Amino acid sequence: MKRMFANTVEFDFDRKLQRPSPAELRDLYRNDDEAARVEATRRGLWIAVIVYVLYSATDLLLIPDVAAYTIMARLTVGIVALAVFETQLHLDTGIKWLDRTSAMALISGYAVWIFPALRTVHTESLSYYMIFGAIFMMGANLFFSFRFVLSVISSSVILATFLLSLFAFWPTDIYALAFSAFYVSCFVFTSYVNWKLNRERYHVFLNALEAQIQQREATERGEALLRMSNTDYLTGLENRRAVDQRLRNYWKEWQVNGRGFAAILVDVDFFKKYNDFYGHQEGDRCLIHIATTIKEAIEPLGGSIGRYGGEEFIVLAQFDMKERVAFLAERIRSTVEQLSLLHEERRDGTSIVTVSVGAAFTREQSGAKLEKIIHEADRALYGAKASGRNCTRLFDPNDPNSSDESENIAALLKIAINQNLVSLVYQPIEEMTSKRRDAVEALMRLRTLDGSVIPPSLFIPIAERTGMIIELGRWVIRTTCHDLLADNHVQSASINVSPIQLKMPGFAASVAAILYETGVSGSRLAFEITEGLEMEMHSDVLRCINDLKTLGIRIWLDDFGTGFAGLSWLRLIDFDMVKIDRSFLHGSSTPRGKAMLQDIVGLIRNRGPKILVEGVETEKQLALLREFNIDYAQGYHVGRPSSAQTYRDATNIARPSAAPTPSA
Ligand code: C2E
Ligand code: MG
Ligand code: MG
Repeated sequence: MKRMFANTVEFDFDRKLQRPSPAELRDLYRNDDEAARVEATRRGLWIAVIVYVLYSATDLLLIPDVAAYTIMARLTVGIVALAVFETQLHLDTGIKWLDRTSAMALISGYAVWIFPALRTVHTESLSYYMIFGAIFMMGANLFFSFRFVLSVISSSVILATFLLSLFAFWPTDIYALAFSAFYVSCFVFTSYVNWKLNRERYHVFLNALEAQIQQREATERGEALLRMSNTDYLTGLENRRAVDQRLRNYWKEWQVNGRGFAAILVDVDFFKKYNDFYGHQEGDRCLIHIATTIKEAIEPLGGSIGRYGGEEFIVLAQFDMKERVAFLAERIRSTVEQLSLLHEERRDGTSIVTVSVGAAFTREQSGAKLEKIIHEADRALYGAKASGRNCTRLFDPNDPNSSDESENIAALLKIAINQNLVSLVYQPIEEMTSKRRDAVEALMRLRTLDGSVIPPSLFIPIAERTGMIIELGRWVIRTTCHDLLADNHVQSASINVSPIQLKMPGFAASVAAILYETGVSGSRLAFEITEGLEMEMHSDVLRCINDLKTLGIRIWLDDFGTGFAGLSWLRLIDFDMVKIDRSFLHGSSTPRGKAMLQDIVGLIRNRGPKILVEGVETEKQLALLREFNIDYAQGYHVGRPSSAQTYRDATNIARPSAAPTPSA
């Protein structure tokens, strides 16, 4: 088998996102929030230029003789700076160049003003006015948000310009000393504050970045948790929780917008056997392989798949046209079949892994409920399994076995024992050589509250599906022991037992309790097992059969030839008797049919158990059984099923002569 694993959700909850290196951090910092910084610088430059031009008024007041030049200089620098800035903005040159332009504007704003101002005759006024130069320095270091290096370069150029201008303007030594000291300390102080501000900004940026990373880690963790809680750990498909949510959403959409949907249940045939034989690891791989293949096949058709239980998947699709649903269901089945995964243990004539598929879809009906559609898909799946598996079934509301009638029968079965709605009839079995009829088969009957009869072919499968067969089965054993065996009205009785009962833990113990309670020996009972729906031969079943044999109970194989597993069962279990299905006897009127019956008889005889042929309706058929040396016969010709009272009446007349038991 091809090995493959699903992409299941794996998340390392201790995983930390990688932090950027110092170089990357610097880059990130430089580019951090560039749009906001561009906008702030632009606003700053416009304000600075306007204020700068407005200072023309102080020029007129303090240095009126050169004011015309200084005002011209102010206007020129202001207009050029704004024009260059706006052009750069338009060309999207980035904050780095915009900052440089702003720094250049500050330097030239100071220089272009101071040199014409130095020519004034109002030297005293100018000596005071010179103090305003410090504002340019403050602008470079504090008003704009330049990087430290740019701030220091521009403010030191302003300082140098001032110092240079002192050579042209030297009122007194004291003045030169005091103003130089003031300018230098202003430079040192504002540069220091700028350095602190930049550091602060960087730390704020680092904290914000760390917070962002932690937030991302938390979000990733949250998303992974959500994904995990909705994902099946093995196959990586949606799990039941997610499927239920999807179902609720589809249901709501159907109720509100009328958009219908289909629910398709997919069950892997004989998966337990696969697991037992190939091992759990291989079983897991098989499930993963099937899951991924179905997913790939159905997604283009508009379906989604989830894991619904152990080996059960569910496909949902938002359409409810019968043909489309049938097409999708068949695609699922054939896709798995085409995988040709070997499954040699199933012994039903197929040796690859297959699936049974049951589908249901939304339709107008009264009292519609979400659970009902799944229930219907489940019933369709049950139908697919009952039809031999590896097939698809669509839920058919008109089929009595899957319709509301079956709901009614299920409800009826629950009250059947208490309300005396079940009863037993007993059909005689004839030992061919002695012609004695002292064994019977117990057959269950069910009637409704208004007295009409429901055939076993209808209610037995429903009892098996709902699990009611467990309780009914116990009732049959107890009633047969009590009604016929305890008082020796018949010597032995055979009872039909469903494989579901055999799988039930404690079944053999409950039989032992009934035998003890009724005082009947186990050797007077035979259990008939039909290869029915649950024909997988679990080890629990084999163990239970052994326990029953220890109680002395004989095990018969019923309806031989009608199912798939008869032959392999014959190999696995040491049956005391095999009952050949009546269809073989009824078909024996043709030479071919007769040869077939003879072959079957030969085959069973080779294995050792006694043989009973069912459905003997004519003397001719009985003669044929004699010809074939059959051990026992049963059928309407031998005796119709009748009530316990008939047998009691018969023995009361015939007593005390007790007849021998059939040896099988
Ligand atoms: P089965 O065990 O093979 O029982 C024989 C069936 O063949 C009975 O049908 C019987 O009435 C019918 N039959 C007997 N002789 C003739 C004949 O000569 N010709 C024809 N055409 N039919 C004949 P019934 O009673 O309808 O039971 C049907 C099936 O229901 C049984 O088949 C058995 O598998 C199941 N069943 C009946 N009672 C029980 C029960 O208590 N427990 C379980 N688990 N299954 C039961
Ligand atoms: Mg039977
Ligand atoms: Mg039978």
